[in-house]
Amino acid sequence: MIHEIFPVGPLQCNCSIIGDETTREAMVIDPGDDIDDILALVRKHKLQVKQIVITHAHIDHVGGAMKLRAATGAPILLNQNDFALLKMLDEQAAWVGMATPGKVEIDHSLTTGETVAAGSHTAQILHTPGHTEGSICLYFAPEKRLIAGDTLFAGSIGRTDLPGGSMQKIMRSLHDTVLALPDETVVIPGHGELTTIGDERETNPFLVKR
Ligand SMILES: [Zn+2]
Repeated sequence: MIHEIFPVGPLQCNCSIIGDETTREAMVIDPGDDIDDILALVRKHKLQVKQIVITHAHIDHVGGAMKLRAATGAPILLNQNDFALLKMLDEQAAWVGMATPGKVEIDHSLTTGETVAAGSHTAQILHTPGHTEGSICLYFAPEKRLIAGDTLFAGSIGRTDLPGGSMQKIMRSLHDTVLALPDETVVIPGHGELTTIGDERETNPFLVKR
């Protein structure tokens, strides 16, 4: 599996490019900004982007989606519970001092039970509300990788004080869904360093056992 992880934009959102070495099909997860850099990596690996997956509708994760769709023709996928947040991109831009990306259109809503794929590499979608109502994680079971969006960070969890946030819901998502994954699962958070489920289960101060 080709997996490029690199921070984009002023808030340094971790964007992932996942590609299949044989079919050269790819997905891009959270193209928040710096679309020219994303496209340069796509070309470097000779990939064809088939899906654009958004873990949640915060501007630092979704801001570049329309530009990437225009460049690749790939559909934009996001859980429908974040459609309200998507309509607030102008307000979000003002909060963080970014230029507004304009209107973002969603081609398909994703939720638990569905999968996304880059060639032979398939991820299960896990709806994990709490940071936002429509937050999702992508779990690549054979590769033991979790793209966690802003639900789980190394040593921390997503903030819940923004519109659509809920501490009760994020704790339920973390304990019932995220921590149900195997300890050896590598976690790629929405920001910052990579970690594993086992490390977070043991040391994350927000995840001490109930
Ligand atoms: Zn966020």
